[in-house]
Amino acid sequence: MQPPKFKNRTMYTPKARTVKLNSAAWKRLRAQVLAEEPRCRACATSGLVSAATDVDHISNDGDDNSRDNLQPLCHECHSSKTRAEMLGRPVTLKGCDVNGFPLDPDHPWSKGEKSPATDPTNTAPSTLFYR
Ligand SMILES: [Zn+2]
Repeated sequence: MQPPKFKNRTMYTPKARTVKLNSAAWKRLRAQVLAEEPRCRACATSGLVSAATDVDHISNDGDDNSRDNLQPLCHECHSSKTRAEMLGRPVTLKGCDVNGFPLDPDHPWSKGEKSPATDPTNTAPSTLFYR
């Protein structure tokens, strides 16, 4: 996957935080959240079990370090959420659940649309090649 391309690099400016991410206070708070909830909360909503490695500010307010505003996420989920917030887009779910179904509710499969590969009216040549 390619990183998002920013038309204007000044569109996202991280705010200064009252508790810096490299401070002992944040490291204690982070360790406490991960000890209380060691699994990624976003993955858990999809039926997946992933170790949480990051602590996310749910409201994206880096100054609100109340426990209700902090959630444990795996690095992939945290990066996806942060990227969506930076771009001003809704957070989309990528990947599949434990049954192999797409997590994204906007995925054609979730909408019940047929795949062109299984549509009998599709006369396009097969994408399989035999040697
Ligand atoms: Zn996750």
